[in-house]
Amino acid sequence: MPDHQSSRTLLIQDARVYDHEGDVDQPPFADILIVDGLIAAVRPGIGKALAAGEPVAELAGRSVDEVIDGTDRLVVPGFVNSHYHSHDVLLKGVFETIPLELWMMMALPPVYPKRSSAEIRARTLLGAIECLRAGITTVQDLATIYPFDEEHLEVMLQAYEDVGIRCIFALQIADVTGAKSLPYWDTVAPPEVQSMLSASVEPFDGVDLRILVRDLYRKHKNRHPRLTWALGPSSPERCSVPLLEAIGDLSRSENLPVYTHIYESKAMTLIARQTHQSDKGSLINYLNRVGLLNPHLSLAHSVWMAQHEIEQIGAAGTNVVLNPVGNLKTRSGIAPIRQYVAEAVNVGLGCDNCSCSDSQNMFQSMKLFASLAGVTGPDPGPPTAADAIRSATLAGARAAGLSDKVGALKPGMAADLSIIDLTDPSFVPFNSAARQIVFTESGRGVETVIVDGRIVVRDRKITTIDERALREEVAELMKELRKDLETAMKRNAALMPYLLESLKKTWETDIGLNRHVTG
Ligand SMILES: [Zn+2]
Repeated sequence: MPDHQSSRTLLIQDARVYDHEGDVDQPPFADILIVDGLIAAVRPGIGKALAAGEPVAELAGRSVDEVIDGTDRLVVPGFVNSHYHSHDVLLKGVFETIPLELWMMMALPPVYPKRSSAEIRARTLLGAIECLRAGITTVQDLATIYPFDEEHLEVMLQAYEDVGIRCIFALQIADVTGAKSLPYWDTVAPPEVQSMLSASVEPFDGVDLRILVRDLYRKHKNRHPRLTWALGPSSPERCSVPLLEAIGDLSRSENLPVYTHIYESKAMTLIARQTHQSDKGSLINYLNRVGLLNPHLSLAHSVWMAQHEIEQIGAAGTNVVLNPVGNLKTRSGIAPIRQYVAEAVNVGLGCDNCSCSDSQNMFQSMKLFASLAGVTGPDPGPPTAADAIRSATLAGARAAGLSDKVGALKPGMAADLSIIDLTDPSFVPFNSAARQIVFTESGRGVETVIVDGRIVVRDRKITTIDERALREEVAELMKELRKDLETAMKRNAALMPYLLESLKKTWETDIGLNRHVTG
């Protein structure tokens, strides 16, 4: 049977099966029966019954197409990478740790000329492959297509379909220019360089975004079962009231998740204090006023969140998505992890951009989530390793409205999982599944990955895409991209002194909270 069919039957036999509610240290052995993309049963003895010729009710008379030997293997739910952007996949390893606002001017689409469809397909596939190889079966792509081109959107959606990952797709949009999002920029920068500053995305010329997001959703909503739609206002301070209200209306009427960035850096927080005084300088108040502070909303980063805002988020059931690796690499600070846990906020995890993290690896995110909590509160207590795994699976699924489908290995759920090799030194000796997944595993042990019942990684190799051909194509595409990177850096030289001056003034301004470890 070819790998590309999810309408088939699979049996994983005699593996340890991770259950959030069960023994997370020594998960018991069981068989997992997968029928037509769904987990049909998780219990010991299915393989033995079949070998003895006994009927297995869930198979309804069908035979098993493939048996995967689970000896010395641990099966874990597929991770949900709840914050990711595919637009800079080809820039991994290009930058040192630099402040967020400098990185934005080097890495993000508004700084580059329009890309080719071939480059867009290649980067989408490559990013998804990196996710899959590390056991990420669902990815939330908050994609910037700038300048907007519907053909590029089409190319991306097709790439996701072809590679076989589950994707929660959102087009990143804003209707306020990036030049207005940096404190002190208008006073520090001379008029001729002011408009050179840009952010994650810029407003699309001559496009009513309210109509665009509605029409794109209607057009693509039933495109593919593994593709679900979400709404992506870039950040609250860069979206007008009418735009956010329209997004709120669409989210409510169509039951759509909304993903946005908030308070990632001190600059993003200070500009909110300065420009949103009618909301007492709080973007949480702003989101509440436009009808978005609800369980559909996920707030990426949330590093510079004040305590009273954390309480508002907890009360509203709004989700937070932490990206500790990217926050460190962009010198943005450390999120108040323990405060979110204390307010019972649903906290998902992401890996963020490929040029600010620089890897799609939830093991790194989980380890930093569990470990950096100590910077915000040294006394013992949560989050535990098992909590980190919940954040990387269940919490992300809940934020995406996919709780009944992904995040746990239960009958009726989609068969989205990875099989980890317990003979890898990371698991020898086998003391605790949860703690060795979070603190020891690097991704090296991920051997097999299944999405929707389809084997997309087998023996650590992608089954759906010719990786060698993709590598060769990327090498060719990089010739153009490297030239454009060089041009962008030269252009940036003119505005760097003013950008640094704005940031210096920002860091010197007291906003009543500190997420850097200074002083
Ligand atoms: Zn982001």
